[in-house]
Amino acid sequence: HDAGEDGVLAGLDPDQRAAAEVPGGPLLIVAGPGTGKTRTVTHRIAHLVLERDVPARQCLAITFTRRAAEEMTERLHALVGAKARDITVATFHSLGLAVLRERHARLELPADFGVADAAEQHRVLTEVAGDERAARRLRSAISRARRGGAQDGSGETDTPDADVADTVPRYLAALRERGLVDYDDLLALPVELLESDADAREEYRRRFQWITVDEYQDVDDLQYRLLRLLAPGEANLTAIGDPDQAIYAFRGADVRFFLRFQQDYPQAPVVQLTRNYRSGRHILAGALKAIRPGTLVADRQLHPTRDDSAQRITLHRAADERAEAAFVARTIDRLLGGTSLHSLDSGRVQGDGDGRIGFSDIAVLYRTDAQSRALLEELGRCGFPAQKRSHDPLTARSGVEHILRELTHTSAASAPGETPVVERVRAAAGAILASLPDGRREERAAELRTAVELLTPLAHRCGTDLARFCQEVLLGAEVDALDPRADAVSLLTLHAAKGLEFPVVFVTGCEDTLLPLRWPGTEPDEAALAEERRLCFVGMTRAQDHLYLTHAAKRTRRGEARETRPSPFLTEVRELSEAVTTESAPPRPRRRAQQLSLL
Ligand code: ATP
Ligand code: MG
Repeated sequence: HDAGEDGVLAGLDPDQRAAAEVPGGPLLIVAGPGTGKTRTVTHRIAHLVLERDVPARQCLAITFTRRAAEEMTERLHALVGAKARDITVATFHSLGLAVLRERHARLELPADFGVADAAEQHRVLTEVAGDERAARRLRSAISRARRGGAQDGSGETDTPDADVADTVPRYLAALRERGLVDYDDLLALPVELLESDADAREEYRRRFQWITVDEYQDVDDLQYRLLRLLAPGEANLTAIGDPDQAIYAFRGADVRFFLRFQQDYPQAPVVQLTRNYRSGRHILAGALKAIRPGTLVADRQLHPTRDDSAQRITLHRAADERAEAAFVARTIDRLLGGTSLHSLDSGRVQGDGDGRIGFSDIAVLYRTDAQSRALLEELGRCGFPAQKRSHDPLTARSGVEHILRELTHTSAASAPGETPVVERVRAAAGAILASLPDGRREERAAELRTAVELLTPLAHRCGTDLARFCQEVLLGAEVDALDPRADAVSLLTLHAAKGLEFPVVFVTGCEDTLLPLRWPGTEPDEAALAEERRLCFVGMTRAQDHLYLTHAAKRTRRGEARETRPSPFLTEVRELSEAVTTESAPPRPRRRAQQLSLL
């Protein structure tokens, strides 16, 4: 491991170090984007284990995604060495599942209980609710109700509470009859257990005496209750996050849990990290302007550590979404330093920025997935490699669950053996195809091929461990189509961009009703508007060197072309005249050039 002479904290700045060194007890770290949150908490855990004699097995680190958990595990290994194996790094759901496996008897679950995938859940709900339509209508309402009533702002209030209240117990009974739990159970049941069983509570508290939660601004009601049960008032609980980056209310997250940490843990010191290592000062100035009217952090500050201040943010107004895409492509071409062909040939060439820029240094962000089409088309037309990154769960993609069911089927019939999971996945897809009647085969083949491709990276990571593979998929492993070595432009939603950083960032579609997103013609809802502003802040703060904020004067959505107004979030940014260049493209320059050449 790389602990130097000054110990494991040598790589931290004084504020990060102060946070990492807080002895025991509860601790809240409020830290803006690019201030080194993950770095600080991993170093803190390493410091506890290596320099404070905290047993590694007493450490529990909770992250929000499987990917973040993997990354943290790697970083801890690098810092701590072999002892890192004893540290528990988990998502809330994998922690919940581990508790259920250990305590299944107490919860009257069979030892080999399964986690229902979406299709199984749908089947059970259909049986209980009577028909498929009712099942579909009830599914999200039930999940919302069980997650603890947090408002999701979706306006889906057409399902009467009485229906839900009546269905939940029957649905749960039907699941249990089949030896199944669902995704929400992975949190609900451990909370139930720890609330009712003082011995179990004591045991888990003794086991996990040092708890760290990353991205604390995004916990939901059940996650919060589980944490409160594991970490009472005096516990060694470190929560880190940025309330201004809370963007998951639609999934039930509630930033108020972050804001009331000091009431829950009155003893807790609050440490702020305000030194930003990521972005040029023009970007931070712009991002702060954008978030200020809605900030949840008193005295929000972000200090640039970088000194290069010659750059500016570009605000660009295009005629429509195609012209917007053309602007993005043109700008990329210029940053790469020449004509597209030249850039392609040499791969990486000197850009006109302050360094060498390649395709993989560039991210194009958008609020809704539908926006990616015009962008992908234009980048494709210019011959620029692009890859869309997404973080939907794998199980949301068609074909994936079918393959998974086939896998569990065949593995029950055959010995586990040493067959790589990748091969088993391919074989399962083949078996499904072979079982289909001729007429259906062709249409399903493409779907299954895509599903196999999506499953392949995870399958490789799991080697021959089929059980682990199935569990990871069911626990919400995300689509990981991204090849980090590929030299391609990344296209991703603002949500999926969270936590990432790129030298060049385009935030496209900065228009009222798109960012902030709302149904055209409806009034903005205060809470939703505040969250959209935070989403804009998350997007802007992904940028290291170059930031472009684009909007189109006219945009076609759901087949309908409309005039648009620029996003209200740009109003304040625009005032930063020293850091912002505003430009507006003449309408349709390309067509004019074409006409000229025809003449
Ligand atoms: P976000 O809120 O956007 O997720 P974050 O707080 O998690 O941001 P990191 O991604 O951990 O920030 O760090 C941002 C960048 O700053 C990374 O490139 C990281 O390596 C760098 N960095 C963090 N701390 C230091 C430091 N003390 N010295 C040098 N670089 C640092
Ligand atoms: Mg981070």
